[in-house]
Amino acid sequence: MSTRTDSTVDSREALALLTLPDLDGLADAQTRGASCVWCPDDTPLTPETAVDLGEHLSPLDGRDPGMRWFPRAHHRCVQTAALAALHDHAPLCEQCVDDASACETGLTLRRLMREYR
Ligand SMILES: [Zn+2]
Ligand SMILES: [Zn+2]
Repeated sequence: MSTRTDSTVDSREALALLTLPDLDGLADAQTRGASCVWCPDDTPLTPETAVDLGEHLSPLDGRDPGMRWFPRAHHRCVQTAALAALHDHAPLCEQCVDDASACETGLTLRRLMREYR
Protein backbone atom coordinates (compact mmCIF):
# COMPACT_ATOMS: atom_id res chain seq x y z
CA MET A 1 0.00 0.00 0.00
CA SER A 2 1.45 3.34 -0.96
CA THR A 3 0.43 6.77 0.19
CA ARG A 4 0.53 9.77 -2.09
CA THR A 5 2.81 12.44 -0.74
CA ASP A 6 3.43 15.91 -2.06
CA SER A 7 7.00 16.67 -1.24
CA THR A 8 8.04 20.32 -1.13
CA VAL A 9 11.53 19.35 -2.25
CA ASP A 10 10.07 17.92 -5.46
CA SER A 11 8.09 21.08 -6.01
CA ARG A 12 11.23 23.19 -5.74
CA GLU A 13 12.96 21.11 -8.38
CA ALA A 14 9.90 21.28 -10.57
CA LEU A 15 9.60 25.05 -10.22
CA ALA A 16 13.26 25.39 -11.18
CA LEU A 17 12.35 24.01 -14.63
CA LEU A 18 10.19 27.02 -15.40
CA THR A 19 11.54 29.81 -17.57
CA LEU A 20 11.46 33.18 -15.86
CA PRO A 21 11.22 36.48 -17.71
CA ASP A 22 14.35 38.64 -18.04
CA LEU A 23 15.03 40.66 -14.90
CA ASP A 24 15.74 43.74 -17.03
CA GLY A 25 12.16 43.90 -18.26
CA LEU A 26 10.44 43.50 -14.90
CA ALA A 27 8.85 46.06 -12.64
CA ASP A 28 10.29 46.69 -9.18
CA ALA A 29 7.40 44.96 -7.47
CA GLN A 30 7.98 41.87 -9.58
CA THR A 31 11.69 41.63 -8.75
CA ARG A 32 10.84 41.99 -5.07
CA GLY A 33 8.31 39.17 -5.23
CA ALA A 34 5.52 41.60 -4.35
CA SER A 35 3.70 40.88 -7.57
CA CYS A 36 3.53 37.97 -9.95
CA VAL A 37 6.62 37.56 -12.12
CA TRP A 38 4.51 36.69 -15.20
CA CYS A 39 1.66 39.22 -14.84
CA PRO A 40 1.42 42.95 -14.99
CA ASP A 41 1.28 44.17 -11.41
CA ASP A 42 -2.43 44.90 -11.34
CA THR A 43 -3.37 41.70 -9.51
CA PRO A 44 -1.68 41.70 -6.12
CA LEU A 45 -0.38 38.46 -4.71
CA THR A 46 -1.80 37.22 -1.45
CA PRO A 47 -0.39 34.44 0.73
CA GLU A 48 -3.19 32.19 -0.62
CA THR A 49 -2.52 32.87 -4.29
CA ALA A 50 1.27 33.23 -4.30
CA VAL A 51 3.68 30.48 -5.23
CA ASP A 52 7.23 30.97 -3.98
CA LEU A 53 9.51 30.18 -6.91
CA GLY A 54 12.64 29.93 -4.80
CA GLU A 55 15.94 31.72 -4.99
CA HIS A 56 17.25 32.75 -8.40
CA LEU A 57 20.43 34.39 -9.57
CA SER A 58 19.85 36.24 -12.81
CA PRO A 59 21.97 38.57 -14.91
CA LEU A 60 21.05 42.22 -14.62
CA ASP A 61 21.91 44.67 -17.44
CA GLY A 62 24.04 41.90 -18.93
CA ARG A 63 26.42 42.01 -15.97
CA ASP A 64 27.67 39.08 -13.92
CA PRO A 65 27.12 37.77 -11.33
CA GLY A 66 23.74 39.44 -11.53
CA MET A 67 21.14 39.76 -8.86
CA ARG A 68 19.82 37.34 -6.28
CA TRP A 69 16.04 37.46 -6.12
CA PHE A 70 13.03 35.52 -4.92
CA PRO A 71 10.30 35.65 -7.54
CA ARG A 72 6.70 34.71 -6.74
CA ALA A 73 3.74 34.01 -8.98
CA HIS A 74 0.04 33.16 -9.10
CA HIS A 75 -0.93 29.48 -9.08
CA ARG A 76 -2.59 29.97 -12.46
CA CYS A 77 0.54 31.55 -13.94
CA VAL A 78 2.73 28.71 -12.66
CA GLN A 79 0.45 26.33 -14.51
CA THR A 80 0.70 28.38 -17.71
CA ALA A 81 4.48 28.53 -17.37
CA ALA A 82 4.66 24.77 -16.80
CA LEU A 83 2.66 24.20 -19.99
CA ALA A 84 4.95 26.56 -21.91
CA ALA A 85 8.02 24.79 -20.52
CA LEU A 86 6.56 21.45 -21.56
CA HIS A 87 5.93 22.73 -25.09
CA ASP A 88 9.53 23.97 -25.23
CA HIS A 89 10.92 20.77 -23.84
CA ALA A 90 8.97 17.93 -25.44
CA PRO A 91 9.83 18.41 -29.15
CA LEU A 92 13.56 18.59 -28.35
CA CYS A 93 13.63 15.69 -25.91
CA GLU A 94 14.38 12.26 -27.36
CA GLN A 95 12.75 10.56 -24.41
CA CYS A 96 9.53 12.58 -24.78
CA VAL A 97 9.35 11.91 -28.51
CA ASP A 98 9.96 8.22 -27.84
CA ASP A 99 7.87 7.71 -24.71
CA ALA A 100 6.72 10.79 -22.81
CA SER A 101 5.61 8.75 -19.81
CA ALA A 102 9.24 7.82 -19.12
CA CYS A 103 10.67 11.34 -19.16
CA GLU A 104 11.38 12.73 -15.71
CA THR A 105 11.25 16.34 -16.86
CA GLY A 106 8.02 15.85 -18.76
CA LEU A 107 6.39 14.09 -15.82
CA THR A 108 7.56 16.76 -13.41
CA LEU A 109 6.09 19.54 -15.53
CA ARG A 110 2.79 17.69 -15.90
CA ARG A 111 2.64 17.18 -12.15
CA LEU A 112 3.25 20.90 -11.67
CA MET A 113 0.30 21.69 -13.94
CA ARG A 114 -1.97 19.43 -11.91
CA GLU A 115 -0.73 20.84 -8.63
CA TYR A 116 -1.29 24.49 -9.51
CA ARG A 117 -4.46 24.53 -11.50
ZN1 LIG B 1 0.25 36.00 -12.43
ZN1 LIG C 1 11.45 14.90 -22.00
